[in-house]
Amino acid sequence: MLTGKTAIVTGSTSGIGLAIAEALAAKGCAVVINSYSDSQEDHAIAAGVAERHGAEAVYIKADMSKPDDCRMLVEKTVSRFGTVDILVNNAGIQFVAPVDEFPAERWDAIIAINLSSAFHTAAAAIPHMKASGWGRIVNIASAHGLRASPNKSAYVAAKHGVVGLTKTIALELAGQGVTSNAVCPGFVLTPLVETQIEDRAKETGLDRETTIRDVILAKQPSKQFATVEQIAASTAFLCSDDAAQITGTTLSVDGGWTAQ
Ligand code: NAD
Repeated sequence: MLTGKTAIVTGSTSGIGLAIAEALAAKGCAVVINSYSDSQEDHAIAAGVAERHGAEAVYIKADMSKPDDCRMLVEKTVSRFGTVDILVNNAGIQFVAPVDEFPAERWDAIIAINLSSAFHTAAAAIPHMKASGWGRIVNIASAHGLRASPNKSAYVAAKHGVVGLTKTIALELAGQGVTSNAVCPGFVLTPLVETQIEDRAKETGLDRETTIRDVILAKQPSKQFATVEQIAASTAFLCSDDAAQITGTTLSVDGGWTAQ
C-alpha cells in the first residue's frame, strides 16, 4: 500500500494516465489529476477517482508544453498536500510524418510535452523527495524509447530522451530513497492510438481489424494490445517498497516488441 503518499500523474484525464491515477488512488495515495484544459469534465474525472477509491483526488490544470506550468503543478500540489512523493510523467502526444515533411511546430510541441515536461516536473519535485528521503519518479516512455519506427522522428527522439533522463536522475539520487524508472509500453488501445488506427485504415484501405493486426501491431509479436490497467499495475509496482532497489531502468510492457 502507498497510504499517505501524494502522487502527481501528468496528462491523466484519459487513457494510461487515468488508469495510473486510479491504481495509485486504489493503493491509498492522494492523487493529482492533470491536463491542459480546465473543464467541468476534468474536475468530474478527479471527483470520480476520489469516490471510487475513497481517496483524495484533485484536478490541477497545467499545460505540459510550458515549463512554468510544469513547475507550478508541483508547487500547487505541495501547497495542497504538503509534499509530493510520487511523480508520474505521462502526458504525451503523437504526430506522424516523414522528417522532411514534419512540421517544425509539431516537433517542438512533442519535444516539449513528451520530454522537457519530465525534466521540469522532476526538477521541481526532487527537492521535496530528497527532503523526505522517499520518492518515486516513473516516466511513461514507450517501446519507441528503445526502438525506432519511420515517420515518428519527434516521438522516438523524445522517448529515447525520456529513457536517458530517467537513468540520469536515478544516478543523481541513488542511495537517497528516491528511484527513477521508465515504463515502456508497446501499443495500448487509447485515444492516442485510435487516431493512428483511423489514419492508417484510410491510407491502406484495409478494414479496422486487419489494420490493427497487420499494420498497427506489426511489430508487437503478441498481436494483442497491452491494457491501460497493465501499464498502471507496472507503474504502481515501481512505486512500491518492493521496487526500492529498482532504479535507472526500463520496464517493457510490449508483447515482445523489444525482444526482437
Ligand atoms: P491519451 O491521448 O489517451 O492521453 C494523453 C493525456 O495527455 C491526456 O490526458 C491529455 O489531456 C494529456 N495531455 C496532452 N497534452 C497535454 C498538455 N500539453 N499538458 C497536459 N496534459 C496533456 O494518450 P495515452 O495513449 O494514454 O498516452 C499516455 C502516455 O503513454 C504518453 O506519454 C504516450 O506517449 C505513452 N504511450 C502510449 C502508448 C499507446 O499505445 N497508447 C504506447 C507507448 C507509450
